[in-house]
Amino acid sequence: MRFYLLIFFLSFSGIFRAIGQETIDYSISFPNAVHHEAEIEITVNRVPSGPLTFRMSRSSPGRYATHEFGKNVYGVKAIDGKGNPVPVTQVQGDIYRIDKHDGSARISYTIYGNHVDGTYLAIDESHAHMNMPATFMWFPAMTNRPVRIRFNDLEKYKWKVATQLKPGGANIFTAPDLQYFMDSPVELSDFKIATWQDVNPGGRRQTIRLSSHGTADDQKVIDDYAGMVAKVVEEQKAVFGELPLFDNGEYTFLQDVNPDNNGDGMEHRNSTVITNSGFKIAGNQEAMLSTFSHEFFHAWNVERIRPKSLEPFDFSHANMSSDLWFAEGFTQYYGNLILKRAGYRTDKQYLAVLSGILNGILNAPGPGRFPVTHMSRYAVFVDAGVSVDQNNYANTFASYYTYGAAVALGLDLRLRSEFKLSLDDYMKAVWTVHGKTEIPYTVSDLQNVLAKLTSTSFAADFFKKYIEGTDKNDYSELLKKAGLRLRKAAPGKPVIGPLRFTLVSYTGKNRVANPTVKGSPIYEAGIDIGDYILKIGDDNLLGNIDIDQLISRYKPGQRVPVTFEHKGIIKTADLIIQEDNTLEVVALENATLQQLQFRNNWLSSKIKQ
Ligand SMILES: [Zn+2]
Repeated sequence: MRFYLLIFFLSFSGIFRAIGQETIDYSISFPNAVHHEAEIEITVNRVPSGPLTFRMSRSSPGRYATHEFGKNVYGVKAIDGKGNPVPVTQVQGDIYRIDKHDGSARISYTIYGNHVDGTYLAIDESHAHMNMPATFMWFPAMTNRPVRIRFNDLEKYKWKVATQLKPGGANIFTAPDLQYFMDSPVELSDFKIATWQDVNPGGRRQTIRLSSHGTADDQKVIDDYAGMVAKVVEEQKAVFGELPLFDNGEYTFLQDVNPDNNGDGMEHRNSTVITNSGFKIAGNQEAMLSTFSHEFFHAWNVERIRPKSLEPFDFSHANMSSDLWFAEGFTQYYGNLILKRAGYRTDKQYLAVLSGILNGILNAPGPGRFPVTHMSRYAVFVDAGVSVDQNNYANTFASYYTYGAAVALGLDLRLRSEFKLSLDDYMKAVWTVHGKTEIPYTVSDLQNVLAKLTSTSFAADFFKKYIEGTDKNDYSELLKKAGLRLRKAAPGKPVIGPLRFTLVSYTGKNRVANPTVKGSPIYEAGIDIGDYILKIGDDNLLGNIDIDQLISRYKPGQRVPVTFEHKGIIKTADLIIQEDNTLEVVALENATLQQLQFRNNWLSSKIKQ
């Protein structure tokens, strides 16, 4: 009898799974927007028997660290299908449970949010700027169910809806499942909008929208700015030969401009959130474009050319990935390169970008010790992850954005000089094999694609040395091919740091404010963050001091006594002055025609007129 019942139950639940159309209904209202609160209701029917667990997320698509979204949730209540209250147990900080229900439940709670960026929730009378994992609870047992959401109070605040969610009736939008719902940020506000069409090879038309919420720009500014964004989109399309096929044929830039905003960009499958801290777009167009360029490149690289390590996205904690040097670093490289190709960066500005990348990896201890794959894995701690204790990143870490961009630069210049190919060819090949097909990749897949394009030995050597190892490409030689020179920016300049001071006003002492960097004179003298440097040579360091000027009287290699205070103990040591090793990339004045051609092939527009 029991056995029989079990079989019956299994086949019955199997039918439900096959139908699979039982939608989860969300509803959000804003009775107290001025104080940043929203009221959320979630209605679910045909709940599997047994306790019903629901929870807030601890991670968010596009963000790689863990976040405690559960902290801003309170007043969690539930009723059953007949409207009777049922007890809710808070099992963990962000996990709740109902032990008894009649197959239906309506969950309600209040949420607070006052942080405008791509990760969190922000509500006030001007807008509801929603990142879904920061806003909505979900049911771990029912993540495959379709989602429907109703936005209330739109008329009250004169808000419209901008999102990649699919319209499904008056103020109602839908998603096929939880993964898509969570990946679909929403801006409710009286935004301005500009729309344009793109035609892919083969004739498919797609709509690209820029919704911009801010106060100070008129429609003409938005329209003109959309024209600039469209040019960036075209230049990126030229790399891959086509735009991705967006779901519903639409892609949306969700921009928010306000002085109180946190500057951020957060990519999603068919949209991106871009938040700018400032009063308006007008006058800031070219600076703002860098986030647009980076995030839109993600429409290919990360949203469709997808690392296996990010699939499926785990909302209970951050997915760890060894691949962010490619997903983010190569995107970072192209974000800047595309702006140069599209004419939004001067030669000088672009060379400054290259200088920054190379200083970040050739002059920092981290990249000498650990490979890009290692740095990628630390994203779970560093990507806007918050903790209060000190870390040793100054000596062990380098951003996978910068480090990955340096690998991209090295690979691009080597493909150009050794194979008459370019990184564009490689990106297109990865797009064909892993992007269009949406077959997630591993590091060895990336190596295989490179091997097919070049040779097995080149790809094996490149990945062994520069991806899994800590070798660095010979950037000086590679840049020379483009008529560029990598050189010291301030030869002969004496330095003892990196060193920043905080002046403690009531003692007049200067406290070391930054973690000291291995190999630098102050680190090797035993000076640590938090120490007070009291005397260098004959100079007492009291009150406001210009440390660069003070050091300028010494020569690199010179030994100078230093007195410092460490946790109340006065110590002395010697500083061995070093030469400033900051690098810069400059154009050769007498570059050959061949060098200029190489540079032009690399940096000029790829849009076919
Ligand atoms: Zn990115």
